[in-house]
Amino acid sequence: MSDGTADRQLRERARAVIPGGMYGHLAAPGAAYPQFMRSGRGARVWDADGNEYVDLMCSYGPVVLGHQHPAVEAAVRIQSEAGDCMNAPGPVMVDLAELLTQTVRHADWAILAKNGTDATTMCCTIARAQTGRSKILVATGAYHGAAPWCTPRPAGVTAADHANLVHYTFNDVASVQQAAAKAGDDLAGILVSPFKHDAGFDQELVDPAFARGLRTLCDEKGAALILDDVRAGFRLHLGSSWEPVGVDPDLSAWSKAIANGRALAAVLGNDAFRDGAKKVFVTGSFWFSAVPMAAAIATITALKDEKAIEAMHRTGTALRDGIVDQARSWDLAVNYTGPPVMPYLTFAGDRDHELAGVFAAQALRGGAYLHPRHNWFVSAAMTGDDLALALEATDQAFAAVRKHLGQLAGGPPCPVQQPNPTRPPRSRPAAIIPYIIYFLITLAYAIKRRTLDSLPGAFSLGRRARPVIGFVLVYTVVVMLVLSLPAPFHGSDKVLGYGLALAALWYFGLVDGGH
Ligand code: PMP
Repeated sequence: MSDGTADRQLRERARAVIPGGMYGHLAAPGAAYPQFMRSGRGARVWDADGNEYVDLMCSYGPVVLGHQHPAVEAAVRIQSEAGDCMNAPGPVMVDLAELLTQTVRHADWAILAKNGTDATTMCCTIARAQTGRSKILVATGAYHGAAPWCTPRPAGVTAADHANLVHYTFNDVASVQQAAAKAGDDLAGILVSPFKHDAGFDQELVDPAFARGLRTLCDEKGAALILDDVRAGFRLHLGSSWEPVGVDPDLSAWSKAIANGRALAAVLGNDAFRDGAKKVFVTGSFWFSAVPMAAAIATITALKDEKAIEAMHRTGTALRDGIVDQARSWDLAVNYTGPPVMPYLTFAGDRDHELAGVFAAQALRGGAYLHPRHNWFVSAAMTGDDLALALEATDQAFAAVRKHLGQLAGGPPCPVQQPNPTRPPRSRPAAIIPYIIYFLITLAYAIKRRTLDSLPGAFSLGRRARPVIGFVLVYTVVVMLVLSLPAPFHGSDKVLGYGLALAALWYFGLVDGGH
């Protein structure tokens, strides 16, 4: 690993000309992280100092086929040569809108924009324009973008910005009904994520009954069901993320993976909301750029042709199985939640993300770029080698967490979710160190007291060697017994080891006393 000089210098320059040195989610997620990246290819990225990482963040979602995907880059090159920003959109706009409406079941029309926030905001505006009402229901803690109505930070936001939001709890239909009752006859829409992916928390898959409950409620009230597919869209499914659940929204917001890293967002909607979409005035200077649209066509085509969703699912499942297995072998209690292609790992009781920080920093040093407080992303470019390297790094990361816990008094308890019974637990080298130290101390003490001659053991060895070997054998058996104790004893195994070592000391002292 290089020493981070280039990154340090860039940070210093940035501090002078960029507020806070960096803003939003683009700020490096910890001291160990580089702030600036130089390049990306396939499932790897290189930081400003040239350090290489397996990319498990995929730019927080946009990179779905891998960096520099050949078909997407070819489409970008061809469109760039023809033109990008040309007074009016290129023919690719119509091509893409057709492709999107053919690919996503609930979509009859598409509006193209730049960012996820553009798309979620526009969905709310269209819902209001169509219904003539103002209230939108949102799940507490859910992220829908960085505009004043939805930013999670209070700075610069007024009460009026939130005045038309009513909160409910994800996967709790009763709470949605209560929120709808509060909105009364002013309910314009219900905004929902395809699964609960609030940053920093265990993720929660959607309960299909909840999704159906929202659909029914919206139908009864004449409100819009709005799916925020910005983060998960085109990673979970080639279509809306709720198609496998069997629930279609009226409006959906897209961005991230839609163009494999090129700036593009989309609102898709059904015919019932077409008039609302026609009425609103929505635009942006760069919303009609042709290059990202060409990239989106190539991305969606490649997702289909290369069966990329299935490939990501396979890799994500292997990553999950490997990591859960590692956690178990290190006797660490973890929650590995969310879909395999968008997983998130937390440690039991780690409310301030201290252990997550230790884990992520060591994974980074080992060559895997993941995040301590945000779900990860698997791309279709990940090869067996990428997966092996990532798993090597996460194994080192678990070792670092185990060591960190060893340095703290009383770590968390040990049961692990989703144990994988097919592989035996790995040995834990760090846990044996105290036994070795106590073994050496005990042995030195025993030799000093010249007690060894009195040890049991009828070996045909020399009188001096015989008792030493006897001692080593007895001690080894004791240590192995301690290490084979079941998981609930792990937090106290060192204490047990120390106790046994002291007992051995006492034993020798006693024999010595008998001389
Ligand atoms: N909705 C969700 C679910 C998101 O994850 C994000 C981005 N993280 C947004 C909306 C906002 O997207 P953008 O940052 O492109 O504005």
